[in-house]
Amino acid sequence: MEHDSLIARLGLDWAKVESEVVEHLSRLVRLDTSNPPGNEIAVAEYLTAELAGVGVPAQVLQAEPGRANLVARLSGSDRQPPLMLLGHADVVGANPQHWKRPPFSGEIADGCVWGRGALDMKSQIAAGLVIVKLLRSLGLTLTRDILYVVTADEEAGSHLGAHWLWENHRSLVEADIAFNEGGGQRFETPTGPLFTVQVAEKGSARLRLTAAGSRGHASIPRTDNAIFHLASGLVRLQSFQPDTLVSPAARRLLGMLAEAYPDAAPAIANLVEEPTWAKVTGLDIDPTLREYVLAGTHNTAVPTLLSAGERINVTPVEASVELDCRLLPGEEPERWARVIQGVVGDRVEVTVVRGRASAPVRDDAQTLDILGAAIAAAEPGARILPYINSASSDARALPGVKVFGFFPSASDVDYMRLIHGTDEHARISDLSFGTRCLFEAVLRAAT
Ligand SMILES: [Zn+2]
Repeated sequence: MEHDSLIARLGLDWAKVESEVVEHLSRLVRLDTSNPPGNEIAVAEYLTAELAGVGVPAQVLQAEPGRANLVARLSGSDRQPPLMLLGHADVVGANPQHWKRPPFSGEIADGCVWGRGALDMKSQIAAGLVIVKLLRSLGLTLTRDILYVVTADEEAGSHLGAHWLWENHRSLVEADIAFNEGGGQRFETPTGPLFTVQVAEKGSARLRLTAAGSRGHASIPRTDNAIFHLASGLVRLQSFQPDTLVSPAARRLLGMLAEAYPDAAPAIANLVEEPTWAKVTGLDIDPTLREYVLAGTHNTAVPTLLSAGERINVTPVEASVELDCRLLPGEEPERWARVIQGVVGDRVEVTVVRGRASAPVRDDAQTLDILGAAIAAAEPGARILPYINSASSDARALPGVKVFGFFPSASDVDYMRLIHGTDEHARISDLSFGTRCLFEAVLRAAT
């Protein structure tokens, strides 16, 4: 395959492109779109004005006042169905007390853009804006429509954003493929760098475990204590190792890891043959990649919220804990609840508080080839690693679109640990690299 850069042929002043992305990101961070309340209209208006400057009309669609979604379209030929550049305008809240710089400063310092949303995901929105403006101003002939879609409410479930758009304005956002958040983490391996591409994401279930006991004065010891019953169930859950499920997507990922880590190839082959939890945790590969493999081959159940008791001298009649469960594509919340019920025993009752099965893996070889070529053009020898994300995104709301998580980072910084945290920041060199890869992929897919 040919990996020379299509961007290089355009003769762009890349330093200028980079500084535009940095400036837009800084300005977008300064628009506080903490969700709640969201106020994504601020971002939609900013983008509308920028797009109008190059003659690209945009529609702003509000599910509720202030909860704005933006849809813009660059028309191409109808040889191929549309390609969407997707992003969400809202961010999670930030407590300024704990930040070195104010979280909505958008400050540009130390080679970085600082603030909430710098990574998740105003970076990719800024890159998308610059790409749309470049496509328009260069007058490139497109083989398909390019959609630029910036949603509201992703951080709170996509209800007023992607879900609402899909239900109420589907014809505007129908596309064959979309490039979104969720991918682009770089890993150095013995045989060269790998970059993640999200091709699916896990579903989720919130389960409640409840144990009952008899009320009484705590001065009298009784064995029928709700807290002890719940604790016994949790101890069983702690040592529970769920079935290891090697789906076709997981098998592909493991095959690529075997190539990337030749020394681990025999252990990976053995794992694929007879998969177990212990074989995954024993893999001698990058520890973060190992976590990806673990999450991508198991349904999980992690206790996060615990509740029992009202007074020090009264044994409680009830104790409960909630589990954050992440489900592989194809797994149903109710079925997983029955599995957990079998683990914790019959003194504890398992109920489904909320649950959502995930969509199946949706990708295609042609687009993966394009993303692989875009990466290789930006960093010779680099390859992509298609994976199942344990977190979820707007992809959950667009069942008819193949959504690829793709915004590569030049450095090995573990961005997943900075997202939603304090002092969120994007390195300018990573931002520039991500923009280059995304633009290269768009050129390969649509020109
Ligand atoms: Zn996000």
